[in-house]
Amino acid sequence: MRVLLVEDDAMIGKGLVTALSAVGMSVDWVRDGGEAEAALRNEGYAIVLLDLGLPRADGFEVLKSARREGIDTPVLIITARDHVDDRVAGLDLGADDYLVKPFETRELLARMRALIRRRAGQSTPRLVAGALELDTETHELSLGKAAEVLPAREYALIHALLERPGRILSRSQIEERIYGWGEEVESNAVDVLIHSIRRKFGKSVILNVRGAGWMVAKS
Ligand code: CA
Repeated sequence: MRVLLVEDDAMIGKGLVTALSAVGMSVDWVRDGGEAEAALRNEGYAIVLLDLGLPRADGFEVLKSARREGIDTPVLIITARDHVDDRVAGLDLGADDYLVKPFETRELLARMRALIRRRAGQSTPRLVAGALELDTETHELSLGKAAEVLPAREYALIHALLERPGRILSRSQIEERIYGWGEEVESNAVDVLIHSIRRKFGKSVILNVRGAGWMVAKS
């Protein structure tokens, strides 16, 4: 699961990268509004954590221009500004949620899960396609009697496919969602992950679409 973190405070930024990496997320961290606007055009992010007070362009400007460009990645504003005007402005500009600093990591993670879930059109913590079920809190994938807690990358891969069963994701689309900047990606990395998931749940858990990519069946 790939996250864009927009935060100019070095200490807060480091703390968040550590906390999010600990639960298996790949975090790309940018420190000013200009970089954020450029990074947001990448569609691989599951969610964006956006500070408001930033050098070059503030968080409101970043959000406004992203939404104007039609970028619909979920945005969670994280800021020390707790005035109701700021919260209203942020939400009206297209933010999906707003969390005031300081906050506890577990609240941040719960809100992130809720937004990621909402984007997938699910109101419960489970992503389901037919008999295949993914628990987004425990990272357990189950199919019939088989159930396993997946390692971070396998989780991110199956999550991306289960967000919309029946939709094909190409190799590069999958890589974009799993790996952050500067991460070494072997050319067969996606195949290795798929092979590992199939070994646990059977070959038909992920379907090959020749020359296009992979999908999970709708039912
Ligand atoms: Ca700031």
